[in-house]
Amino acid sequence: MNALLLAAACLLPAADAPKVYVILWFDTEDYLLPASDDAALWLADFLTKEGIRGTFKVVGEKARVLEKRGRKDVIAALKKHEIGYHSNYHSVHPTPAQYLSNLGWDEGVEEFDRREGQGWKDVERVFGQKPTCYGQPGSSWGPQSYGALKKWGMIYLDAGRHVSLDGKPNYYAGVFNLYHLTHLIRADITKPELLEKANEKFADSRKQLLKEGGGVVSIVYHPCEWVHQKFWDGVNFSKGANPPREKWVKPPQKTEDETKSAKKVFIDYITFMKRFKDVEFITASRAAKLYADKAAGRELSAKELLEIARKVADGVTFQERGGYALSAAEVFFLLNARMAGHRQVRLTQSPLGPTSRVAPLEKAVKSDMNQLHRTAADVDDYIKKHGRLPGTVWLGSTGVPPEAYLKALAKAAIPTLQGLETPEEFMVEPAKLDAAKHVSGDDPKLWGWVIFPPGMKAPEMMDLAKRQAWSLKPAMLGAK
Ligand SMILES: [Zn+2]
Repeated sequence: MNALLLAAACLLPAADAPKVYVILWFDTEDYLLPASDDAALWLADFLTKEGIRGTFKVVGEKARVLEKRGRKDVIAALKKHEIGYHSNYHSVHPTPAQYLSNLGWDEGVEEFDRREGQGWKDVERVFGQKPTCYGQPGSSWGPQSYGALKKWGMIYLDAGRHVSLDGKPNYYAGVFNLYHLTHLIRADITKPELLEKANEKFADSRKQLLKEGGGVVSIVYHPCEWVHQKFWDGVNFSKGANPPREKWVKPPQKTEDETKSAKKVFIDYITFMKRFKDVEFITASRAAKLYADKAAGRELSAKELLEIARKVADGVTFQERGGYALSAAEVFFLLNARMAGHRQVRLTQSPLGPTSRVAPLEKAVKSDMNQLHRTAADVDDYIKKHGRLPGTVWLGSTGVPPEAYLKALAKAAIPTLQGLETPEEFMVEPAKLDAAKHVSGDDPKLWGWVIFPPGMKAPEMMDLAKRQAWSLKPAMLGAK
């Protein structure tokens, strides 16, 4: 670059310079303590004055209670921000992970829709806008909720350890997933003496993210934290307790001075973050646009398919390509479509992983190209009809798991895509789904939420979640 060009480049607005995107989200859930309505009002008004849009994930019952209490002022203030959804009753038992724990995929999606659908509609009715995102109460997470959210056209926004892709935004089960993020930080509003440390932590996150070319900082609060001494649900629904409505009690409240001090900490924290020119406050839907899936609808050339086939290894996982990413299920769908005889191969859908039991394969089995073509045509139809991969791929009378099939398929596709002779016969060898390491097993730590009954576990549901690792891929920052 010559000196003149260099000078011109320096004058250009830094539109493409890396940015730190801060998502401020508020789980707006306490429907018992009326002072929490005022806390939500104060937060919404403060952020509006600061020119910041937050994301308020509202519980269905909270929206209905605001209406019943005639809090038009709170509703109007929150409406200026983005509205999300945070379940229908939050902590009334059974909570989502409990009622989803014994259900398969489709039954779970329907049950989530049945139990949570009304609250979702109520939030939309009360606030006059479609909630953009959902996040579970406590750690009450279940993979089937993603199936319902996909139908509802929503983003997942929360914090937890069930699915984690290097602490970065990702796609899981076809839903944009802001979940286990490295930069989940906050200032403790009850400890003004620690604000300095929280500011430093934000500054460190900012530095780190700028080095990586930009990224997301996730900051969560609950409006009720500004007014309560203890969480509203902890005093009613702990350890599986499920008292009737008439026995629900209000949590103890903070003193006026404590609330005032908590407000000051938050104001100072926001003021600190705002000083950086490269920090932008965003909502969940803005994040979804920034991380829009660049693979969707893409047509893949034979050259690209060849590169993709060559990258399929014994450990099946997603692929990162220049500017876009493909989940393992998308790789499967594309290579299979080509083997099924489609000349034009386009990513018209992002299939789920298998929801049925996966066939085991202990040792290699033999098959032939003629069978592979017939199987590929059948599997192509299966994916298009069911929107997911089969748990068993039938090579005639022999059923094999999808990961072993994908490996054999990729191997067979390589000479075909080069226009070379393909061997008549081939072996289907055992393979494993490496992407599953990004989904937690049924670790008791997942279910540490105080509201759960003691001994909560969900091994089958977490197995189902692991199978959905087929649909997992990184979300890449790029689109404006
Ligand atoms: Zn909550």
